[in-house]
Amino acid sequence: MCGIVQVRYRYRIYPAPGQRQSLARVFGCARVVYNDCLRLRDQCHAAGEKISDTEVQRRVVTVAKLTPERAWLGEVASVALVQACQDARRAYKNWFDSLSGQRKGRRVGHPALRRKHHRQSIRLTRNGFALHGGRLYLAKVGDVKVEWSRDLPSVPSTVTVIREPDGRYYASFVVRRAATPLPACGRELGIDLGLASLVVTSGGEAIANPRFLRAKQRRLARAQRALSRKQKGSANRAKARHRVAVVHRKVRQTRLDHAHKIALRLVRDNQAVYAEDLCVSGLARTRLAKSVADAGWSQLLRCIEEKAAQYGREFARIGRFEPTSQVCSACGLKDGPKPLSVRAWQCAGCGVVHDRDVNAARNILAAGRADRLNACGTGVRPPSPAAAGIETGTHRSAA
Ligand SMILES: [Zn+2]
Repeated sequence: MCGIVQVRYRYRIYPAPGQRQSLARVFGCARVVYNDCLRLRDQCHAAGEKISDTEVQRRVVTVAKLTPERAWLGEVASVALVQACQDARRAYKNWFDSLSGQRKGRRVGHPALRRKHHRQSIRLTRNGFALHGGRLYLAKVGDVKVEWSRDLPSVPSTVTVIREPDGRYYASFVVRRAATPLPACGRELGIDLGLASLVVTSGGEAIANPRFLRAKQRRLARAQRALSRKQKGSANRAKARHRVAVVHRKVRQTRLDHAHKIALRLVRDNQAVYAEDLCVSGLARTRLAKSVADAGWSQLLRCIEEKAAQYGREFARIGRFEPTSQVCSACGLKDGPKPLSVRAWQCAGCGVVHDRDVNAARNILAAGRADRLNACGTGVRPPSPAAAGIETGTHRSAA
């Protein structure tokens, strides 16, 4: 078993007014470099030309600095620009691999250009930051005040400095932490993610989103509608945008808090937890995939994954598509698709009466067990995704 897990620790930071200006400059430069990288790669791709990573970096940073239009790139720490090139490279590669079928999981679209009003971020490696005396030193920005809400478990390898659309700043460190395995237990669990309930387990338990979260989500939808009615470029639009960003943060925080609690309980009480991979689940193929619910599911699965790695438990996503609502979990009879309005039915084969979601969770459990036994039989352990490294990207979704 791996004894070390890699995790992110995030802290709120309070840059002084001058530091905010320096940060705005480096965010802007990193954004421009990122977008230039994407454009250059698109051009080469369209021309059928191959371009090396070093050549991309040379053209969008080193050469660009010499031109009058991009001379200001020289004013910020170059480590942030180099990381922006790497972020763009990875985003492009993910899209490419997804197109060619080399990348498993959800289809990745063409990477989007970074925009000024969205979340801004820069990533710095060890030569771009330092920690001393409770302060975070950032190259060419200075010592920034940090609210240390908890101790860092180890010396961080990278830091991502973030400015959220609501105007708050954060530092997110990648650190290594010792795993703390719990005593083994024999239980295994399948979970089905849904809309009516956030989670339904193979044991028959339904876990809903708390009422206050649903209330906040309604408020977010209202704020977004208000924003869409405001005139482009107006002061009222800027205000409405800020309001959306604030409500968005509250939804995100409340949801994350809830996800942590559920994840901890599921991982603590079970040796293995299985879930349907979101990229193959029926829900993800509908328009609903873009909804608030989707963000909540991915966040919950990430929490379960992290906690399973931390506590020495198994978590697996069922990758292949199983028509989980078409198969009887008791006898295996496949009696075809049922409209979403059908919440319960009696199996024509064995007579068992099924709840739709519980039946799906039981099928997921069976598929997860089968995968696990297969992996054991061949002596190959399924890779633990959390141990394999977390996303170090700075361009995460809002979740
Ligand atoms: Zn049956």
